[in-house]
Amino acid sequence: MGNEASMIVHDTAGSAEAIAAGPFGEWLARARAALRGDAGVDVPCGDCTGCCTSGYSVQVRQTDIRAVAVIPAERLAESSFAAGQKTMLACADGSCPMLESGRCSIYSSRPQTCLDYDCRVFAAAGIEAGDATKAVINRRVRAWRFSQSTAEEERTHDAVRKAAAFIGRIGDGSAGVRVPTSPMGIAVLAIKVFEVFLDPAMAGASDRTLGQAVVESARRFDRLPAP
Ligand code: SF4
Repeated sequence: MGNEASMIVHDTAGSAEAIAAGPFGEWLARARAALRGDAGVDVPCGDCTGCCTSGYSVQVRQTDIRAVAVIPAERLAESSFAAGQKTMLACADGSCPMLESGRCSIYSSRPQTCLDYDCRVFAAAGIEAGDATKAVINRRVRAWRFSQSTAEEERTHDAVRKAAAFIGRIGDGSAGVRVPTSPMGIAVLAIKVFEVFLDPAMAGASDRTLGQAVVESARRFDRLPAP
């Protein structure tokens, strides 16, 4: 979340604005490293403030010391996600209370949640960010264009999209496993577990087998011990 210069290009049909998202393989490696806390993300937001105006509640961690120091206490509520964590609730119009005149008023002290947010994850997964309340982000998601220079990158991107489609489909529990059902949860899980969908041994596997493989792949990615 934030503002920075971006490269505006035109798609091949010349009919719609497109925005360069960078080489897919590089983006994916960096996004996965960021999920493990090994790297930061650098999003070319341009003048888009979609994620700051779309009704998100921003998680504020105990480690966000500078953010906690500058966000008015009345804007912070106890988080339902983790004990001791706070949530900064959006204003009635969906905008973040720290957004002033289209700019983040605490940019240099913004929470890690804002630093980590990268709406290219939806473009990578081939899904939208949400319903009409996320319309501004969805426009941006549709505009992102990754570049793919190798056949392997194309296969990898296809696997990420297949992973997202599968996770979205089994959110009802039909594969016997629990998976996220929010667009962000689906997209993030897809970039953790896409390798399942590159594995020739999984071709034709049942939803239950695939679902179990997704859960195990996510556990390995998160470096969690086996149950
Ligand atoms: S704290 Fe700043 S970057 Fe984060 S949502 Fe609010 S306005 Fe956007």
